[in-house]
Amino acid sequence: MAKALVVGAGPAGLMAADVLSAAGHHVTVAEAKPSPARKLLMAGKSGLNLTKAEAPDAFRRTYEDAAPPLAQMLDQFGPDQVQAWAKDLGQACFVGSTGRVFPVAMKASPLLRAWLKRLEVQGVDLRRNWRWTGFHQTEILFETPPQRFKADVTVLALGGASWSRLGSDGQWVSALAELKTPLVPFAPSNSAISLDWSPYMNRHFGTPLKSIRLTAGPRRSRGEIVITSRGLEGGGLYSLTPALRDGAPIVIDFLPDRAVADITSQLEKMPKKKSLSNRLRRLGISTAALAIVNEAGPLPKSAHDVVKRLKAATLPSYTLRPIDEAISTAGGVSWDAVNDQLMLHTRPGTFVAGEMLDWEAPTGGYLLTACLATGLWAGQAAVAWLAQQPNKTS
Ligand SMILES: Cc1cc2nc3c(=O)[nH]c(=O)nc-3n(C[C@H](O)[C@H](O)[C@H](O)COP(=O)(O)OP(=O)(O)OC[C@H]3O[C@@H](n4cnc5c(N)ncnc54)[C@H](O)[C@@H]3O)c2cc1C
Repeated sequence: MAKALVVGAGPAGLMAADVLSAAGHHVTVAEAKPSPARKLLMAGKSGLNLTKAEAPDAFRRTYEDAAPPLAQMLDQFGPDQVQAWAKDLGQACFVGSTGRVFPVAMKASPLLRAWLKRLEVQGVDLRRNWRWTGFHQTEILFETPPQRFKADVTVLALGGASWSRLGSDGQWVSALAELKTPLVPFAPSNSAISLDWSPYMNRHFGTPLKSIRLTAGPRRSRGEIVITSRGLEGGGLYSLTPALRDGAPIVIDFLPDRAVADITSQLEKMPKKKSLSNRLRRLGISTAALAIVNEAGPLPKSAHDVVKRLKAATLPSYTLRPIDEAISTAGGVSWDAVNDQLMLHTRPGTFVAGEMLDWEAPTGGYLLTACLATGLWAGQAAVAWLAQQPNKTS
C-alpha cells in the first residue's frame, strides 16, 4: 500500500481519489475549503447537467481545440460512462429534450453524499481547510495547517480561476510556475457580457430570448439568452466566448428559420394602420427582442430593411464580464507540461486533472464530463506509476 495525496476535492480530485483508493492505496485528499466540491454543489443548483447524450464523435468535436490526449480520455469516460457512474452512486439520470443529461434528483447533494461515503469506506482521509502552497524538494507544503507532507504520488486537481469563493482561485499558478511548468494564461470561458443598455431596456431585465441564432466570428449558437441589468447571459452566449475574447461583433437573427423575402412579404401584407411593433409582434418578435433591435439605432423605414435588421441585429460594443464570474476558464497547465499520462514533466510522480488543465468546452455537461474523465485518467496513471516504483513509503 502506497501513500497517495490528492489536492483539491472537486469532481476531478474525488475521481482520482476513488481510483487510487479502490486500487488499495492510502489516499489523503487535501481541500482548502471547509467542505468539499463546492462548485459541483453550485452546479447542482441549476439541475446538475452531468453530460450530453450524443455520439462519441460529436461529443469529442465539442472540445475542438483540445490536445489529442483529452480525446482519448473522453473515449474512455464519455456520456455513457458518466451515466453509469452516477447510477452506481444511486443517482439514475434522464436525458432532456436537447440531449442534456441530469440526475433525476436534479441536484448534486445526494450524488456527492453517496460518493463521499464510498470514499470513506475505501479508507480515503479527507482533510478540510488544508491549503497547498507548493513543493520543497520531495515535500509537499501546506500553509493551513502549516506542515510538510510526504507522499509516493500526488494528483493536483485544483480547478480553474473562476468563482473563487467556491475554492478555485487559480492561486496554484505561482507554485507551478516556480517549477517552470509551462502554463497558459487564464481566460474567461462560458462568460456573460456587459452592455451599456439605454434606460429603455430596464423593463426587460430578466427576460429570456428564445428561438434566436447568435453569431460571433466563426461561431454560431441557437441557445437561449437572458437580458440582465449588466448585459446578457445564458448558454446561447457562452458557447461564443472564444470568439468574444477576440472582440468579434455579436449578431442576432431573431427569425432564424425564415428567409428575408418571405418575412418581408408577410410584413408588407399587414394593414399599415397597425403600429410597426404590433406588426412585428405578429411575426413573433417580442417587445424585449424589439428593444434590443432598437438599441442598435432607429429602425429603418422600408419593410425589407426592417426585416434585414431583425435577421442580423448587431449588438452595441460589449465587454466580457470579469473572469471570476465566468462559468469556467480556459488556460492553466499547458498540455506541453504533461505526458500522455497527465504527469508533470517537471515533477515525476505528480499528476494534474480537471479544469486546471488547458482545455475549454461550452456548458451542457461537457465541463463535468472532462473533469471526471481527466480525474479518472490521472488516478489510473498514478496507480500504474506507483506499480513501477520500488520504494514506497509503506
Ligand atoms: C454556477 C456554475 C454552474 C455550473 N454548472 C455546470 C453544469 O451544470 N455542468 C457542467 O458540466 N459543469 C458545470 N459547471 C462547471 C463545473 O462545476 C466545473 O468545471 C468543475 O467543478 C471543475 O471541477 P474540478 O474538479 O476541476 O475543479 P473544482 O470543482 O473547482 O475543484 C477544485 C477544488 O480544489 C480546491 N483548491 C483550490 N486551490 C487549492 C489549494 N491551494 N489547496 C487545496 N485545495 C485547493 C478548491 O477549493 C476546490 O474544492 C458549473 C460551474 C459554475 C460556476
